[in-house]
Order: sequence, then structure tokens, then C-alpha cells
Amino acid sequence: MKIGIYYAYWVHNWNVDFHPFIDKASDLGFDVLEVNAGTVANMTSDELKSLKSHANDKGIELSYVVGLQAQYDISSEDSSVRNRGIEFLKQIAESVGKLGGGPVGGILYGSWPSTLPYDVSDKRPFVDRSVISMKEAIKAAEDNNVTFNMEVVNRFEQFIMNTCQEAIDYVKAVDSTCAKVMLDTFHINIEEDFFKETIIRANDQLGHLHIGENNRMPPGYGHIPWSDVADALRKIKYQGYVVMEPFLMTGGEIGRDIKVFRDLAKGLDLDKEARKALDFTRKILK
Ligand code: MN
Repeated sequence: MKIGIYYAYWVHNWNVDFHPFIDKASDLGFDVLEVNAGTVANMTSDELKSLKSHANDKGIELSYVVGLQAQYDISSEDSSVRNRGIEFLKQIAESVGKLGGGPVGGILYGSWPSTLPYDVSDKRPFVDRSVISMKEAIKAAEDNNVTFNMEVVNRFEQFIMNTCQEAIDYVKAVDSTCAKVMLDTFHINIEEDFFKETIIRANDQLGHLHIGENNRMPPGYGHIPWSDVADALRKIKYQGYVVMEPFLMTGGEIGRDIKVFRDLAKGLDLDKEARKALDFTRKILK
């Protein structure tokens, strides 16, 4: 299994130059760097080319993640918003295609963060509209060697899928080999009954995995049952990327959006911690 890290660990704002993080990920011994798909979607062909060649030179593979902004919500009641979202997902797939393709994950099926309107108790219409939109957007993924991985997140961040089973049902409805389930140990810990069973349930539909502790610290600092996670991944013969997504710093867009209201980075050397977490992860996934 190839192990990666999310660039946002080191920064305060979503849109940054990814080049320094290719070097950093490589120096620290990671296989994969995960970057913001929204930023990639807005890059010029030259910028994409230079990112790709830099990653190739350093032996780093890239993965991509995004939570759609409200203006791109493909589950929206407003068809013009849905259409904008479909176009944005297509643009992401085309840009990632120019980088050689790969996994795009996150909240691709709706906006992030989001909740059901207060006077609505049935989310079905939102799910149905999202599936119809995704069936259209996924064509661009199919054409560009890209997978769209639907990240199951907890109820405080989104409502369309909070469990692995809901993601399986959604992916089945989209009915494309490029639509997959994405899990994240931080979210599993909040919503699911059991770790092992949840990952095994996703089985060959699992396209991408985020790892992190219950408090969003790097693996090794909390109470996620890592041996259960590792057992389940071995059992389903998972071949995708395992990307750690720690968030420690307060402030900026990222501190705000991730709700980091206390300084978890206090006194820690982030590079040293990343290396330690990588060693820990390699050991448990062996
Ligand atoms: Mn995640």
C-alpha cells in the first residue's frame, strides 16, 4: 500500500503552491502527496505540466481531494447550481487527466460543510439529485483515467452519506467503474458501529482511504484501533492509497473550516511528527 500525506497539514489556506510539498513529502519518505483538486482545476496547462514533472522527478504520486463549495452543490434544488457543480467536477477530471489521472476524493456529491434545511427531514431528494448529477459528471472521470471517490463524513459536516453503506448504495446508483467509496478513520470513529466490519463492507468498492486519529492528530496519537484497520485492509486486499490527513494548526481558512479551535501543534515539529506517523503507519500496515 502506498502511503501519502495531505499538504494542508503544513498550511493555513487552501490555495497554495504545491511544489514545496512535493519536495517535503519526498524528503520525509512518503509515496503520495494529496493536493487540493479545486486548485488543480484552475491551473493552466503549463502549471499542470510542471507539477507533473516535478512529482515524477521526486518519485511522488499525486492524489486529489475537494469538498464542493455551495455554488457547486450537485445536490442543490437549483438546477443552475447543479449544472455549475457538474461542470466543475468535469473540469477537475480534465485537469487531473492532464496529470495522468488518479484518485479524486472528498465531498464530491454535495457541498461542504452542509446540513439539511431545518424544515426538511427527508434527505432522499438531495441524494437522488446528487446521483443524477454525478452520473453526468462521472463521464469526464471515465474519459480521463480518474476515479471519483465519495468520502463518507460525519453528520456535523454533511448529511448525504454518513455511513459506508450509504456510500455503497450511492456508488451503486451512479453505476460507473470510476465511482468508488472513500472512508476516513476520523469519520468512521464517529458514525460507524465497528471499524473492521465497516472497511470490509466497502470491500472492492473502496477507492481511497484517509487515516487520522479521533482528534485529527497523526496516526499514533489517539485511540483509533489501528490493528483492526490494518486487518480489514489486508482482508479486502486493498490496493489504493492510504493518505494521512492530520490537522493541528489553528487559524486561516483551514483552521476555520476544520474547526481547529485549540493549538494541537503546540511544541511539535510538524516534519518530525509526519515522519514518525509514516513509520507508525508502515509498521501497522505491514
Ligand atoms: Mn478525510
